[in-house]
Amino acid sequence: QEVPFTGDIMTASELLKRLHYDMMHDMDTIIESALSNKRFEVYYQPIYSVKEKKFHSAEALIRLKDEKYGFISPEVFIPVAEKSGAIHKIGDFVLEQVCAFIASDEYKKLGMSYIEVNLSVVQCMQPKLANHIMEILTRYGVRPEQLNLEITETAASISQQALEDNIKDLTNMGMKFSLDDFGTGYSNMQRIVKLPFDIIKLDRTFTELYDNPKLGIVLTNAINMIKAMKMKIVVEGVETEEMLKLFSELECEYIQGYYFSKPIPREEFVKFIQASS
Ligand code: C2E
Ligand code: MG
Ligand code: MG
Ligand code: MG
Repeated sequence: QEVPFTGDIMTASELLKRLHYDMMHDMDTIIESALSNKRFEVYYQPIYSVKEKKFHSAEALIRLKDEKYGFISPEVFIPVAEKSGAIHKIGDFVLEQVCAFIASDEYKKLGMSYIEVNLSVVQCMQPKLANHIMEILTRYGVRPEQLNLEITETAASISQQALEDNIKDLTNMGMKFSLDDFGTGYSNMQRIVKLPFDIIKLDRTFTELYDNPKLGIVLTNAINMIKAMKMKIVVEGVETEEMLKLFSELECEYIQGYYFSKPIPREEFVKFIQASS
C-alpha cells in the first residue's frame, strides 16, 4: 500500500514502507531490465550425501542484483514474475545456465550426480513443457538424469491435468523430481503419493524446530513414513553440527544448509567442491 507524503519528516518505518512500495511498484521493470541486461545470476548450494560422505549434488538458486535496491530475494520477484509471465524467460535462463555448467569440462571433473532446478508452478502448467525442456537439454548435450526438478508442495497439490501430464512426460524421458517445501503447505499425501517423486525436501521452517518436543515427533514420523515409501530425503536449513548429527542419525540421505555452505557463484562452487574432495 502506498505511503502518502504528509509533509512531515518520515519515521524510519514509514521510509522503509515507502521504499518497499517503490520497489514493488518497479518490480516488473526491474525484472525486464535484468533479463535484457543479463543481471540475473545462478548460484549453487552444495548438497551433502551422508552415505557417500561427499557433496553429491547441488541446488541452483537464482540471484538478482539490482542497481538501486541491491540483492532482491527470489521470494520477492518470483511471484511477480509468475503474474507477469516473465517466469518463463527466467526459468529458461536458469535451465540454460545450469545446462551450460553441466556441459563444461570443469563440472565433469567434480563427480556430481545431478543439479536440482526449481520449477515454478506456472512452468509446470505450460503446455508441452517436456518437449521444451528436452530441447534445451539436447542443445547442450545434457542427459535428463543429470538434472533433478524441484516442485513445491503447493504446486504439487494443484489437481491439474497439464501438471500431471508434464510430470509424466518428463519422467518417461528419464527426469527425476523432488518435492520442495515439504511441511509448509497442506502436505496433501494423496497428491504426493500420486506424483512420482524421487526425493522429498524437508523445509527449513520445519527442520529448524527439531528441538520442539511435539514437532520433533512429527518430524521423526514424517522421515520414517517417507523412507517406508522408498523416497529419499533432503534436509534443508541445516546450520549446526547438532542438526547434522541428529538428521544423520535419523538416516536422512542428504543434507543442505549453511553448515556446509550458502548458495555461491559457479566459480566459487567449483573451488569449494575441489577443495572438499
Ligand atoms: P527453496 O527452493 O526452498 O530454496 C531453499 C532456500 O533456503 C534458498 O533461499 C536457500 O538460500 C535457503 N537456505 C538454504 N540453506 C539454508 C540455511 O541453512 N539457513 C537459511 N536461513 N536458509 C537456507 P533463496 O535462494 O533465497 O530462495 C528462496 C526461494 O525462491 C526458493 O526456495 C525457491 O522457492 C525460490 N527460487 C529460487 N531460485 C529459483 C528459481 O531459479 N526458479 C524458481 N521458480 N524459484 C526459485
Ligand atoms: Mg528448491
Ligand atoms: Mg526448498
Ligand atoms: Mg523453500
